[in-house]
Amino acid sequence: MMIVIRNGRVIDPSQEIDGICDVMIEDGKIKEVRKSKGAAVRNKKMNSPDQKVIDAGGKLVVPGLVDMHVHLREPGFEYKETIKTGTEAAVRGGVTSVCCMPNTNPVNDNSSVTEFIMRKAAHEGACRVYPIGAITKGQKGEELAEMTMMHEAGCIAFSDDGRPVMDSLVMRRALEYSKVLNVPVISHSEDLTLSSGGVMNEGLLSVTLGLKGVPAQAEEIMVARDIALAELTGGRMHIAHISTEGSVELIRAAKKRGLAHITAETCPHYFSITEEAVENYNTYAKVNPPLRRKRDIEAIKRGLQDGTIDVIATDHAPHHTDEKLGEFDSAPSGISGLETSIGLSMKLVDEGVLTLSGLIEKMSLNPSAIVGINCGTLRAGADADLAVIETGREYKVDPGRFSSKGKNTPFEGWLLTAKPVVTITLGRIYEWE
Ligand SMILES: [Zn+2]
Repeated sequence: MMIVIRNGRVIDPSQEIDGICDVMIEDGKIKEVRKSKGAAVRNKKMNSPDQKVIDAGGKLVVPGLVDMHVHLREPGFEYKETIKTGTEAAVRGGVTSVCCMPNTNPVNDNSSVTEFIMRKAAHEGACRVYPIGAITKGQKGEELAEMTMMHEAGCIAFSDDGRPVMDSLVMRRALEYSKVLNVPVISHSEDLTLSSGGVMNEGLLSVTLGLKGVPAQAEEIMVARDIALAELTGGRMHIAHISTEGSVELIRAAKKRGLAHITAETCPHYFSITEEAVENYNTYAKVNPPLRRKRDIEAIKRGLQDGTIDVIATDHAPHHTDEKLGEFDSAPSGISGLETSIGLSMKLVDEGVLTLSGLIEKMSLNPSAIVGINCGTLRAGADADLAVIETGREYKVDPGRFSSKGKNTPFEGWLLTAKPVVTITLGRIYEWE
C-alpha cells in the first residue's frame, strides 16, 4: 500500500529539510520526500485500495516523536495506565516511539519482565515500545540488576527512575557495564537525604504554604556527582528531567570540557509553569523534581537554546484521579504528559527559543540517537513513523478526552495550538479531527 502525504511543511532535522514537500510511503517504509508540486488534493478520487492520499496543506509533517521518558505502569499498576492506553496516548500526541521506565510491579529488573513488556507491546501497543531496565534489583539501589541479559532481551537503557542510585560505587559499576553494552544510564538525580519528606520547591512559597520543600541543591549535588562518575568511567550518562538553573550550568560546563557522553533532558512542565502552580495545594502540579522558579524556567530555555539540554521528554506519569485527590503531602507525583507535550513545547518556537527544526530535533532525532533506535528521520528506507501536526487553530486542553487513563494534568483548560491530526506508525494510520 502506498501513502502519499501532500503539500505539508516537512521538517526533518536529520536531512535538514524544511520546506513544502510530499512524503511517499510504501509498505511501511519512507520511499521518498520530494518538493511538492503544489497540486491540490482531490481526496476521494485519488484514494484507492492501493493508495491513500493525505492532504497536509498548511500543516507540519514531522518524523514521529520519540519520548524517552514514559511510565506505562504495566505490569502491576494497570489501574493507572496500560501498555495499550499509554501507547494510544502516545500516538495521540504524535509520538511513535516510547521508552518505558522500569518502576512497575514487578520492577523491570530481569529479562522475563522485559520480555513480558515486549510481547504485550507487540500485541496491544499502538506504537513502538522500548523498555528501560532497572539499574539495581528492585530499584533498591544496592545490587546491580542483570544488565547484560536485559539488554539482550531488548532494554535500550538503564535507569532506577523514580529513585536515584544513592550509592556512588553502584552507579560507577552501572556506568562501567553500560559502557561495555554501549547504552546510556539515565539518572534520576536526587539526593534523598536532602529531599527527604519534601513535596515542593523549597523557598518562600513552601514556607507560606506550610509544605516541606526540596532545595534545588538536592538535584544539583547528584547532577554534579553523576557528571563526575561519567567522567571517571567514560560511560554514557543521560540526566533526566532537569529542573534547576544550577543543573543547567553544571551540564553546560561539563559539555564545554568536551564530555560528549553526557546528555540531558527536561520536560514541558519545567519550562511551562513555576512553583506557583501548587498554590491552592493543587496536587496536579506535584511532580518530582518539583516545579521551580521563573529564573529556573529561563535557564532551562537557555539550556535548550544553546544545546546544553538535548531532549524534551514528558516523564508521562499517569495516576488514578482518586490518588491525586488526596492530601498534597501524600498525593503521588507526576503529570499525564503525552497528549500535551507537543502543544506546550511548540510555545518555545512561538517565543523564539527554538526553531521548528530545533524543536523536532529535541523531540525526535536526539532521543532516538541517545537510545540508539534508528528513528526520528524521514530518510528513504526508514520505518514510516511520522506525524501531521496542525498549528493554526486554538484548542482547549480537556483531560476528559485523553486516551491516557491518567487525567492528571495542571494544564486543563490551557489554550494550545499544535495538535497532531494524523500519526503513522507500525504500518497503521491514526487520524483525528
Ligand atoms: Zn525521575
